[in-house]
Amino acid sequence: MSQGVRTGPEGIGQALSTAYDTALLDLDGVVYAGGSAIAHAVESLEVARAGGMRLAYVTNNALRTPDTVAEHLTELGIPTEADDVITSAQAVARLISEQVPAGARVLVIGGDGLRVALRERGLEPVESADDDPAAVVQGYGGLDLPWGRFAEASYAVARGVPWFASNTDLTIPSGRGIAPGNGAAVEVVRIATGAEPQVAGKPLPPMHRETILRTGAERPLVVGDRLDTDIEGAFNGGVDSLLVLTGVTDGRQLLAAPPRHRPTYVDADLRGLLTGQPEVTADGDGFRCGGWTATALSDRLELEGEGESLDGLRALCAAAWTAAGEGSCDLDGGKALARLGL
Ligand SMILES: [Mg+2]
Repeated sequence: MSQGVRTGPEGIGQALSTAYDTALLDLDGVVYAGGSAIAHAVESLEVARAGGMRLAYVTNNALRTPDTVAEHLTELGIPTEADDVITSAQAVARLISEQVPAGARVLVIGGDGLRVALRERGLEPVESADDDPAAVVQGYGGLDLPWGRFAEASYAVARGVPWFASNTDLTIPSGRGIAPGNGAAVEVVRIATGAEPQVAGKPLPPMHRETILRTGAERPLVVGDRLDTDIEGAFNGGVDSLLVLTGVTDGRQLLAAPPRHRPTYVDADLRGLLTGQPEVTADGDGFRCGGWTATALSDRLELEGEGESLDGLRALCAAAWTAAGEGSCDLDGGKALARLGL
């Protein structure tokens, strides 16, 4: 089959946790949400690791250090070392270190995660545009970042000091709703200066490179909940991916995904690591998975049969993505998704 949920031989007939050597897991919406573990995450990761899979956590959030993230995961019941955590702060620090002299000063707009990552690369974090920085770096600074920090960044960037951003996620989920993320903070400086930063985080290559360098993964599987960061990052790196539906992506967004946003596998949650993924087959009647058959009509996607709702979604993805080719499917899948309760 051509454009369906790509069912490479790796994930058919054997658990993903044994077909791939390393899981590169996103955190928010995959492992935890609002500080609490997502259902089935703790047990599934434990079983995957016991079976020999290496677990690494890859986050665009540059605020917290790997130590802090590892402590949080360990408290949730997922024993984790700092070395198992890769942040966009580390990726951007490496990117900066390749473009400025050794030991250079870097003006930091952000949190401890950035400062620690810069020192790890031998760079010196400074706080003022008057400290003669060789670069400016912006990462998520949390709710207490003062407005004056954007002014410092703008003074230096407007002078022509090279500007870097850990990531450009526009929003960040919190227990109380959606808050502005580092991408929104970057926009503030962009509006003030008209300049353009170099960005490291998912879905861009510097983050993927940092992850592979630090984990040594040979057969990695990216696991995420977001199409435009996790799944696109995997696509850009030429790596297989598993989308879980415990975060921000729903069935409608998935069916409309252009090629760079199409995951290799789809599952409800991290239990998907422990199973072989079902095959989607195509014949004259449509795309079949489990007990379902999906077809693309002129104006809508149609679904017939019965069975596991995830199998229905997999069949629908194959029908939608094949119909859309290199584009984005605009056929109405609402009724079919409603049948699946998705
Ligand atoms: Mg996420």
